[in-house]
Amino acid sequence: MLLDLSVLKDNPGGSIPFAVDLDLHEMTFGGCRPVTEPVRASGEVRNTAGVYVLSGSIRTTLHGSCDRCARPVDKPVEFPLHAVMAEALSNDDGEEDPWLFLMEDGCADLDDIVTTTFVLSMDSKFLCKEDCKGLCCRCGKDLNDGPCDCQPEADPRLAVLKQLLKK
Ligand SMILES: [Zn+2]
Ligand SMILES: [Zn+2]
Repeated sequence: MLLDLSVLKDNPGGSIPFAVDLDLHEMTFGGCRPVTEPVRASGEVRNTAGVYVLSGSIRTTLHGSCDRCARPVDKPVEFPLHAVMAEALSNDDGEEDPWLFLMEDGCADLDDIVTTTFVLSMDSKFLCKEDCKGLCCRCGKDLNDGPCDCQPEADPRLAVLKQLLKK
């Protein structure tokens, strides 16, 4: 969706609200595509001393399975949305600011801004919780339910040493 910012042009301090729903279900995060629900962004664009500043939030609920323990996860997320619009990029080769977006014919491309912000805000792993302990790689037990009975793996270098000593 393109948001026309021309109404802000001669209106310093003025703002216009926006709300947009995006379908990003094709995006892959971790081992799955958890963005099954529409991604909803809302906020406003304000003319701050001639600079158009977009602020708001992005919300959705992710559905997938945890990358570590494979449990089904329903995870509501909310990310802050912040962007600055520019008519043109300045030519000094400074740091590229990810929050600076180009205007197109006086409009802000909300789809582009929301999608970029969403991708940059998402974790590369999809976990049921930050400290998920995952599954035991030997018996497959879910270690979030407590430790399993597996013995800690013997150091293979020690096993080699024992073999040598036997001889
Ligand atoms: Zn997990
Ligand atoms: Zn185990």
